[in-house]
Amino acid sequence: MTSDDHARRVGQGEPGGDPDHRRAAMVTNQIAGRGIMDPRVLDAMGRVPRERFVAPGYQAFAYEDRPLPIAEGQTISQPYVVALMAEGGRIRREDKLLEVGTGSGYAAAVYARLAREVHGIERLPALAETARRNLTAAGAGNVEVHEGDGSLGLPEHAPFDVILVAAGGPRIPAALKEQLAPGGRLVMPVGTGYGRQTLIRLRRDETGGFVQDDLGAVSFVPLVGRQAWPGTDG
Ligand code: SAM
Repeated sequence: MTSDDHARRVGQGEPGGDPDHRRAAMVTNQIAGRGIMDPRVLDAMGRVPRERFVAPGYQAFAYEDRPLPIAEGQTISQPYVVALMAEGGRIRREDKLLEVGTGSGYAAAVYARLAREVHGIERLPALAETARRNLTAAGAGNVEVHEGDGSLGLPEHAPFDVILVAAGGPRIPAALKEQLAPGGRLVMPVGTGYGRQTLIRLRRDETGGFVQDDLGAVSFVPLVGRQAWPGTDG
């Protein structure tokens, strides 16, 4: 490869280039390039090494514009969608945040750079363990990963200023609405079929009412739980 080829490869964020350059290209092309403008979100996306959260063998694809498989048939979300949810949640430095569906821990690592305290909940124990390991390796000290059904929220740590749900359900679980603080923001994919949803934002006003808006079409794996889709494991 000539040095020109190398520069082009690195500059375009192609598989095989230096991860720092590929990450910077991802932020420019896939995140800012698609309209995410919050400078704190762009900074966080530029700092979290996604290549350390993908499954073994997928490092070369870490900065491609797509979700990637992780263990247990689940996925690490597309970087743009993580940024869209972070911006939609209007995360402030002082916030306590709940992420439902922690998977690899990647999105939680991004949110950890934006919020004071992050709780992640993951229903599959093997993934919760991997997320803990990945987050520790990435130095995200303000994240605690819990195992369980996140459609019920995490009442022992509620209320939350921000709740971000990384899996799609048929409706927003009542438990999550109850655990949202006054002034809080909840972002969740909602749809009646598996795999196609609308990303909904709910804002809770100071009197306890909710205002809903639509952040666009998305495609997430299903949220499986008592206040979500039924699973096959009871
Ligand atoms: N945020 C993750 C990341 O950055 O890697 C991606 C998560 S993946 C798209 C969705 C995750 O939600 C899966 O790991 C799945 O096991 C989890 N999940 C599904 N239903 C859940 C529930 N009721 N409670 C907690 N986690 C759930």
